[in-house]
Amino acid sequence: MTEKVVIIGSGPAGWSAAIYAARANLNPLVFEGTTKPEMIPLGQLAFTTEVENYPGFPFGNVRAFIESAVDADRHWNLPPAPDHMKDGQPHYAVQGIELMELMKQQALNFGTRVIGDDVVDIDMTTKPFRVIRGDGDPVEAHCVIVATGARANYLGLPSEEKYKNKGVSACAVCDGALPIFRGKPLAVVGAGDSAVEEATYLANLKGADRIYMIVRRDVMRASKIMQERALKHPKIEMVWNTVVDEVLGDEKLVSGLRLKSTVDDSTRELAVGGMFVAIGHTPNTAFLNGKLETNDKGYIVWKKAFRTNTSVDGIFAAGDVADDYYRQAVTSAGTGCMAALDVERWLTEHGIE
Ligand code: NDP
Repeated sequence: MTEKVVIIGSGPAGWSAAIYAARANLNPLVFEGTTKPEMIPLGQLAFTTEVENYPGFPFGNVRAFIESAVDADRHWNLPPAPDHMKDGQPHYAVQGIELMELMKQQALNFGTRVIGDDVVDIDMTTKPFRVIRGDGDPVEAHCVIVATGARANYLGLPSEEKYKNKGVSACAVCDGALPIFRGKPLAVVGAGDSAVEEATYLANLKGADRIYMIVRRDVMRASKIMQERALKHPKIEMVWNTVVDEVLGDEKLVSGLRLKSTVDDSTRELAVGGMFVAIGHTPNTAFLNGKLETNDKGYIVWKKAFRTNTSVDGIFAAGDVADDYYRQAVTSAGTGCMAALDVERWLTEHGIE
């Protein structure tokens, strides 16, 4: 059997593509990924705690609704219902994993089939394409949607891993306004445009304290205008020639950083309530072995403006794997929808029923 469309990836782009493709009777097959770093089942949101900016989900304490919507064999994956109040303040957020389980369920409801495996290669020399699985027989497909996302780069410290979601984050826009960071001094690691954006976003939050930018050299990589924005901001303080040696905390939350000079190896401690790592992202494209055109940062290129077509006819890309600029759950979902509609039109144009 030749599949009409295979979707690779199970974040917001993958499930949105699946919902649209399933409702168009394309009978989509989703490769959800395994726990290997390249293909995270349910995408980066599976590792995020609270999501405050996905429209339509003003709050996540909808346990009964979620249990009724998600198949019982996946209830174990759902977090306990959060409190309406946290640290004495009203608290509004859906959990990342709740949102993803709901998106997955919505795709399943319309007949999406899911394989819990990675794709390790795509043979693009034949039509239909041959999608090579990590484990099992190849799958033939007329169209493929690549929605494998991108992963934030981290420093690679064990203490950083330990405090992820407990004060260590790679997305200020997603997490910066959470109660655990409110009114506390915070650190942003990196000196590119992303780091400046993260630092200014945090510094402009209501009640923000000092924001330290930890820069490993004595110059920033960011564009001049962004550099000026950071240097002139009254709440942003530059910490030059410095790297993070260890994230410190009380087991529950981050309380500080041990910093190391890149000039003389001396160390010191800095009290902060959170660390935001902004040292770049890596798109998950290794399995493509360079067969699709990418930009100079490694992200898949859309060959037509506002269309999800890649450099290979019949292969489409959606979500963060093709977006080095917005990288939001809601924009990923939007491009997943676009890719499914592009596939539907492609199949019609090629007379594939
Ligand atoms: P960049 O690669 O531009 O910058 C990464 C930064 O992280 C650099 O300062 C780098 O330092 C630092 N870094 C890397 N690894 C480490 C490490 N292990 N420890 C400490 N510091 C480290 O990535 P960005 O995500 O900032 O930007 C990616 C692209 O997106 C860029 O082209 C940027 O212009 C664009 N962008 C544009 C925006 C805008 O226009 N508003 C907003 C955000 C991004 P070093 O310089 O020493 O290598």
